[in-house]
Amino acid sequence: MLAKISCALAAASLLLTAFHSPLGEALAGERRPGQTLTDDKPKGIEHVIVIGVDGLSPDGIKMAETPNIDRMVASGAVKWNVRTVLTSASSQNWASMIMGAGPEQHGIINNDWELNKHTLPPITQEADGRFPTIFSILHRAKPQAEIGTVYHWGGFGRLFQKNAVNYDKHFSTEDSTAADFIQYVKTKKPVLGFVHFDHVDHAGHHDGHGSKLYYESVAKADSLIGQILAGLKDAGIAEKTLVILWADHGGIGKGHGGATPQEAEIAGVFYGAGVKKGYSIQQQVYTYDLASTIAFALGVEQPYAWIGRPVKPVFNGFGEPKNLWLGEKP
Ligand SMILES: [Zn+2]
Ligand SMILES: [Zn+2]
Repeated sequence: MLAKISCALAAASLLLTAFHSPLGEALAGERRPGQTLTDDKPKGIEHVIVIGVDGLSPDGIKMAETPNIDRMVASGAVKWNVRTVLTSASSQNWASMIMGAGPEQHGIINNDWELNKHTLPPITQEADGRFPTIFSILHRAKPQAEIGTVYHWGGFGRLFQKNAVNYDKHFSTEDSTAADFIQYVKTKKPVLGFVHFDHVDHAGHHDGHGSKLYYESVAKADSLIGQILAGLKDAGIAEKTLVILWADHGGIGKGHGGATPQEAEIAGVFYGAGVKKGYSIQQQVYTYDLASTIAFALGVEQPYAWIGRPVKPVFNGFGEPKNLWLGEKP
């Protein structure tokens, strides 16, 4: 009799699984995107701080006075030619950075994009109509996690789900952006903090990439980065924080948007908790890998719709991909 009952239960469970009912999914143990992972996660990371600098080129970092970024590179991991999405303009690249996917997936193809004005809908979307972002999937996985963003370009604010973040501020200068972000980090100690600076892009448009003013603007960004790193120390979370420096595009002459290495390659720098010291990343890195790497660092599963992959070799205990192929010399 007992055997018969358990047999019937097993059959019922199989039936439920086969019909793909919610109960069946629970029985089958399927995972939903945004669920937390328990294994295969880099160790010691409790906070992620992303510093995004609009229009910051690898050349800018190499040519300008950047002691803080230099220190991050020397004691962190770097990829000097992260490939942006095309065209190399701001909206589609900031979107790709936080959405783990490209314009073909999220539908943000240029700076004219608005939530209620675009031609290509996202291939899949959150209730607000936007493609899932690192903010929305982290919020779903860990509703208690503090998430905040402070940005110098108002356009960044239209790219993410407002109900996914606890803090959402726009400022008109790089100094006020940095000051507010540092104050936020000190008081709230966010699990994910994302700051955006716009002044380097302004300098590129005004005087040209490679100009004296451009390099001075990069040096200014570096000093603000130094203040943020000091702020993490003051907040007492520096040892547990992964810091990532990223950009949306570089530039050539007084603009960007084209398909040249100067415009479509940026530097990705990883520094702090869990990161190898003085490591040069071998694998190819794409701009949408940023969101995937944040999800990986925080132990959150990314949605299938994303095409980014975590940059795992950045982290202690993780190697370059087994199928890495670096091409052949002509
Ligand atoms: Zn930009
Ligand atoms: Zn620009």
